[in-house]
Amino acid sequence: MDGIIIEDRKFLLCLTGSQIETGIERIAREIYRDLEGADVLFLVVLNGAFMFAADLLRRIHIQAQVSFIRASSYKGMTSSGEVRLVMDPEAQLVNKVLVIIEDIVDTGLTLKSILDRVKEYHPASVKTAALLFKPGSYRMTIKPDYIGFHIPSRFVVGYGLDYKGFGRNLKDLYMLQETVL
Ligand code: IMP
Repeated sequence: MDGIIIEDRKFLLCLTGSQIETGIERIAREIYRDLEGADVLFLVVLNGAFMFAADLLRRIHIQAQVSFIRASSYKGMTSSGEVRLVMDPEAQLVNKVLVIIEDIVDTGLTLKSILDRVKEYHPASVKTAALLFKPGSYRMTIKPDYIGFHIPSRFVVGYGLDYKGFGRNLKDLYMLQETVL
């Protein structure tokens, strides 16, 4: 099936689960190459990165800790421009080599807000991994260190990402077809 309908919108297949897997395997190798032996803490950005993080972390065979931060800014298909962050109160970031795991970097506002917040916890260093990157919408200067796929500036759904709360459980990624039903 190449297209799906969620609520009032039609989406077309953009990346299959197995294409996503290939991108994740590459990022896992890069992180292993760079961080083997370091005191690593992976900070997973909820909600959207849950599926990416689960598949990525199972492929990185280093001793590491995992924690979570919740970020929300999107309402429907547009960013509200204001990022709300809730950090896991148990997270111990001091002196850690932090790797932030994001589903998608669009304007970069969320990632920038998270970077500003985590620096208050005095980690040793911070790296960022994003499954998807929209270079056409990006408004910040520093790009994620690890990127799965560069995609056009169109709304996507599936593989952890939602539209109006639906679509997170899809194994493939779909892109909005610009037709309102
Ligand atoms: P940014 O702050 O504009 O970079 O957006 C980052 C956050 O917005 C991501 O972590 C997602 O939760 C959400 N987001 C951005 N683009 C999309 C999209 O195409 N589909 C679903 N969520 C998105």
